[in-house]
Amino acid sequence: MPDPTFAFQVTHIDGGARRGVLTTPHGAVETPAFMPVGTQGAVKALTHRDLEALGAEILLGNAYHLHLRPGDELIARLGGLHRFIGWSRPILTDSGGYQVLSLAASRTIDENGARFRSHLDGSPRSLTPEKAADIQANLGSDLAMVLDECVAYPCGFSEARDAMRRTLRWARRGCDRMLALKAGAVPGVTLTNPGQAQFGIVQGGVHSTLREESAVETVGIGFDAYAIGGLGVGEPPPVMYDLVSQTARLLPVDRPRYLMGAGTPEDLVEAVARGVDMFDCVLPTRNGRNGQLFTSEGRLNIKNARFAEDERPPDLGCSCYTCRTHSRAYLRHLFLAGEMNAAALNTLHNLNFYLDTMRRIREAIAFRRFESFRLALRMSLPRQASDS
Ligand SMILES: [Zn+2]
Repeated sequence: MPDPTFAFQVTHIDGGARRGVLTTPHGAVETPAFMPVGTQGAVKALTHRDLEALGAEILLGNAYHLHLRPGDELIARLGGLHRFIGWSRPILTDSGGYQVLSLAASRTIDENGARFRSHLDGSPRSLTPEKAADIQANLGSDLAMVLDECVAYPCGFSEARDAMRRTLRWARRGCDRMLALKAGAVPGVTLTNPGQAQFGIVQGGVHSTLREESAVETVGIGFDAYAIGGLGVGEPPPVMYDLVSQTARLLPVDRPRYLMGAGTPEDLVEAVARGVDMFDCVLPTRNGRNGQLFTSEGRLNIKNARFAEDERPPDLGCSCYTCRTHSRAYLRHLFLAGEMNAAALNTLHNLNFYLDTMRRIREAIAFRRFESFRLALRMSLPRQASDS
């Protein structure tokens, strides 16, 4: 039986950046943390053994996908998501709202929630704030997200305001449902992980007055932790950074802050500088499968002809298995030959780069030299831009 304890402690502060420890029923996570994306209960191309060896402390799972297949009730019957997928460390699940917007066919959204057709078999489905909480209760993740309504970029003020205010109403319903689940008042739903914590989500598009209203009201509802949603959707990075700064200042200092879906290594460092503690992004995994490697000197497209006889490892500064063992020439060959190992080796390196960047960020904060770390990373940006 996991210990139903959720806690967050900030251990070091350096300027706007903070280092801390997030405690969950399945163990602790050092922050700032990057969460590899395991949409279907697996990080594409890697085994959990690989992730453990990389030092990943937390995984992200996707409620929408797991609800549709194999079904959250089946997973609950099999003991919950941790046991089902064989991962004993912490898991965060998203609510599925973003996937309903981006994947589902013929969706309609009204006050009650979203109605849509499954992208797998076309079957009619619905997702409400209550159902999003129920699905995640069945899954038994350590950290659950409320259902929110994300708007596309660009989005006008009134449309962003309506979605933000609906997100607030949904947040209250999601919070109430979580309380009912914990009180045992929802028949038919298994509270697989009694220590599950719930995040509220700040929305508001790129409009600072809406972001402020959303942050203040969401904090007023009272959640275990807070996420900043709806950014990294196409707005220029300086706009995102300003909104992150503004929002983070309005969130409680003793609660974790999670910037959803961001981003590039530069985004991570800039958001940490503004007080963000948690991240997830598909870039290291998706780009790895597409042959793009993140390195300390910029991005490499491994399929490029100039690597055909390049005997160097992908990143001279990296100690991952891929870099210790293989050359750029071999990785290029694997990619062009369509070998599955290309995806595995590239993903392994990219995730190591992201997780190692977070380790170095945490160390820099502890030694109060985060600002010099941030400047050093910025110095490498021109080469990153030219290589991408
Ligand atoms: Zn490497």
